[in-house]
Amino acid sequence: MWGNLPAVLPAARLLVLLCVSLLSAASACAQVKPPKIDPILNEREDAYLNRQAEAFLNQAQQTLAQFPPQHPEPRERFLALLLLDAVLHDVHAAARPPVQKFFHARIESALKEMETTRGEDGARIWKLYNMGFIVRTKTATIAFDLVRGDSARNREFALPADFMNRFADQCDALFISHRHGDHVDEGVAQRFLDQGKPVVAPPQVWAGKPIHGSLTHLKREAHTEQKLPIQKGKRELKVVIFPGHQMEKTENNVSLVITPERLSFAHLGDQINEAPFLADYPWIDEVARRHHVDVLLPPCWTNEILRIAKGFHPELILPGHENELGHPIDDRVPFWGDSEFLQLTYPELKRSTYRVIVMTWGESIRYQAPAK
Ligand SMILES: [Zn+2]
Repeated sequence: MWGNLPAVLPAARLLVLLCVSLLSAASACAQVKPPKIDPILNEREDAYLNRQAEAFLNQAQQTLAQFPPQHPEPRERFLALLLLDAVLHDVHAAARPPVQKFFHARIESALKEMETTRGEDGARIWKLYNMGFIVRTKTATIAFDLVRGDSARNREFALPADFMNRFADQCDALFISHRHGDHVDEGVAQRFLDQGKPVVAPPQVWAGKPIHGSLTHLKREAHTEQKLPIQKGKRELKVVIFPGHQMEKTENNVSLVITPERLSFAHLGDQINEAPFLADYPWIDEVARRHHVDVLLPPCWTNEILRIAKGFHPELILPGHENELGHPIDDRVPFWGDSEFLQLTYPELKRSTYRVIVMTWGESIRYQAPAK
């Protein structure tokens, strides 16, 4: 490979040649002179934070692989998640190359896992970015709030379109909770629609845009089971769309999706109930009396999360929305559970008898319904 290079080249030209000819051209060039990311630091300080991020993320990665999602949570795993909190609470985390590399690698490994495995008994649940989850049973694969991460406002951080297309290709339906940018991705939704796969969303999502007419608007009605055909009508899901809210003004679909094998998954989007707007508690408090819920997927930061858990009374709880990098750092809710933020009851939930398993980007877990 190197034999074709002229024997003598000016150093600068050689560097350029190396940079453009190596497969890893971008990273090789970046190593020569990394762009400064944090304007308040000098170049040496800024470069140190990149090296620290890489070292911490590598250690976290190894520990998470050794201690995969499980209940109770091993101490080592908890510490690895705290290490992620430390790196991801750098104001400029989304712009740091080691963070981008870590995020993409983790999501790509989830994608490969999904592409090379079929449905198992029970369900496999992948956690992706923010409130993005994909649930696969033997007969159906369902996506919730699947996004590339544009909300982090960094083009290099966001996942490539090819990844998102491949995820969509693996799924039968997409459920979007509400209109906010960290939960919607028009390119992803269009990919589902192009393949004749339903995209279920509340009416506010993309209101006034051409795509709106292609979305499926199920009735937002507590406890009513509706049918949603998938796989071009070969199978159907049963769905309850609870008429939730993120505060008063934003419609937030709380979707309870029941697969053909009667496994049920409740995704809460950004459901939050805060005085004086408490209109959703009458149905929240009633869910378990009317439906069996296998897995609850709540935002980790919602207040009174323990009350919500009691309302749904699920077999397993997998919180989401930690470390949304588009948020200011005090609102980038950490894995350690910052209970001062919104007066959360998250620590009480984690101490409760509910099975709560905290996962990070790209991890998956197998769920099996308890024997009756
Ligand atoms: Zn959100």
